[in-house]
Amino acid sequence: GGRAPVAVVTGGNRGIGLEVCRQLAARGQAVVLTARDEAAARKAASGLAGLPGTVVPFRLDVTSADDAEALAGFLGDEFGRLDVLVNNAAIAYDTWQRAASADLDVVREAAETNVYGPWRLAMTLLPLLRASAHPRVVNVSSEGGSLASMGGGTPAYSLTKAALNAVTRMLAAELRRDRILVNSICPGWVATDMGGPGGRPVTEGAAGIVWAATLPDDGPTGGFFRDGRPVPW
Ligand code: NDP
Repeated sequence: GGRAPVAVVTGGNRGIGLEVCRQLAARGQAVVLTARDEAAARKAASGLAGLPGTVVPFRLDVTSADDAEALAGFLGDEFGRLDVLVNNAAIAYDTWQRAASADLDVVREAAETNVYGPWRLAMTLLPLLRASAHPRVVNVSSEGGSLASMGGGTPAYSLTKAALNAVTRMLAAELRRDRILVNSICPGWVATDMGGPGGRPVTEGAAGIVWAATLPDDGPTGGFFRDGRPVPW
């Protein structure tokens, strides 16, 4: 339907991203499930058939400016706007690395996916977000990027999530006049390929992201939350 909110989720083929797609479609949103592998996007989207909202697959590698432009073209043609952008895709939970002996090539590569990817996508999709009546941007971050609780370890991951949080703050401040709510969300420790076993189920991790994607117009912007509650920067 033309009135259903339109959402884009990156890394929607597995893990938390897939569950975010499921929950948004369950609420009737038209979800563009993006993945860097086209077959993976198609397979994941077909697995979400039968929900109230439609789920459309789209190939998007977040490190590619061309892919971002192609997505903007598709959204413009199909919907003429974008209501929700969930920047979920990320890499490099470099558990065994230390800041004192970090491989900066790994850090640089992580930044392409975890920082410049979401940042570029938000910029590229900005005209479509401005065309929405209730635009929301959700940057899926991590308490690992919190300077308040940062210890040693996971240098690529921690640095890139701290930088993503800075992107959240800058965009939120600049886009306030456009009524675009931009927030960072930590999903908590979630049992996925990245999180490993033992974390909480994806349903719980995704719920806090969906909360930020469906905030009311007087909801917060420029915040950092887990389960709807503030996390220290
Ligand atoms: P997974 O490793 O399970 O999934 C990562 C997703 O990102 C996959 O869909 C992967 O696609 C995609 N991806 C990676 N690189 C790219 C790229 N260049 N372009 C497009 N997609 C890409 O991670 P989770 O589901 O656990 O994590 C989702 C988010 O939650 C991440 O931002 C993560 O940092 C955050 N988070 C997770 C926690 C946890 O405990 N799990 C804790 C805190 C934060 P592909 O299948 O092609 O590799």
